[in-house]
Amino acid sequence: MSSQLINGKEIGQQIRVSIKEEVQQLATKGITPGLAVILVGEDPASHTYVANKEKACQQLGIYSELIKLPEQTTEEQLLQQIEQLNSSAKIDGILVQLPLPKHINEQKVIETISPLKDVDGFHPVSVGKMLLGQETFLPCTPHGVMKLLEFSNVDVAGKHAVVIGRSHIVGVPMGQLLLQKDATVTYCHSKTPDLEAITKQADILVVAVGRAKMIKSHHIKEGAVVIDVGMNRDEFGKLCGDVDFADVVDHTAAITPVPGGVGPMTITMLMVNTIQSAKMKLV
Ligand code: NDP
Repeated sequence: MSSQLINGKEIGQQIRVSIKEEVQQLATKGITPGLAVILVGEDPASHTYVANKEKACQQLGIYSELIKLPEQTTEEQLLQQIEQLNSSAKIDGILVQLPLPKHINEQKVIETISPLKDVDGFHPVSVGKMLLGQETFLPCTPHGVMKLLEFSNVDVAGKHAVVIGRSHIVGVPMGQLLLQKDATVTYCHSKTPDLEAITKQADILVVAVGRAKMIKSHHIKEGAVVIDVGMNRDEFGKLCGDVDFADVVDHTAAITPVPGGVGPMTITMLMVNTIQSAKMKLV
């Protein structure tokens, strides 16, 4: 079976072109969207993600502020920093790069970010609004997956969508967004006894587990659309997904590669959310 490659780099680029136009439009009204990213500690992966976010801002004309704080920053100091950004007129979006050092309560930090600037979509207000289908900041990775499906003309309505993973960042919101587009949604997780019996029923399979190449062809229904959110290192240190791409690809109607699938969409949707926030200044 010939499979369509869902190219997140290309789709992300298309969306970024329209973001750039919107930034230029906003500039004519005296508005420069601004994103603040707070990074606590020295986690190397986090440093890479943050650098990519800054680069995206620069390319699109979005003002960005990177606040690097030492590992030993106290929770109180971090919360004060967030409060300052909450009241800064230059900043429309605030992102605290996760994970945080163990002595800082992540949930408390997320809840200190103003829901009006919560461009990651992790604040309980944003999550609640998302569940109710109200306008809000949608979490970037699942939102990016929905855009991949839309741009690839995958009709979600009436399809059986299976999501493997139930994290608050990816799995749970992913299923909710698919549900809102009228898919029949099943969640799987580490306590699901017979994973294959369920994934075999999926018209659309979204995998967000964090285990390199776990999903094989025997998990897949012939002709399914497979979205691989995973970002892992294989035994050779090469970036790979949760899906064994080579084993699975011929059984799919469409599939995302890793890298170049979901990854580029996450940052793109962060930019979309930042613009959405800046546009609130217009009303
Ligand atoms: P988490 O570790 O928070 O969640 C993993 C989920 O997978 C859990 O719900 C867990 O179940 C489930 N799980 C673990 N093992 C199994 C198993 N054997 N069978 C079925 N389910 C299982 O990870 P995240 O959601 O944060 O991330 C998932 C992956 O996506 C990672 O590889 C991460 O790097 C990647 N990622 C990629 C992004 C991108 O931009 N491309 C952005 C964010 C994440 P349980 O709840 O029962 O423990």
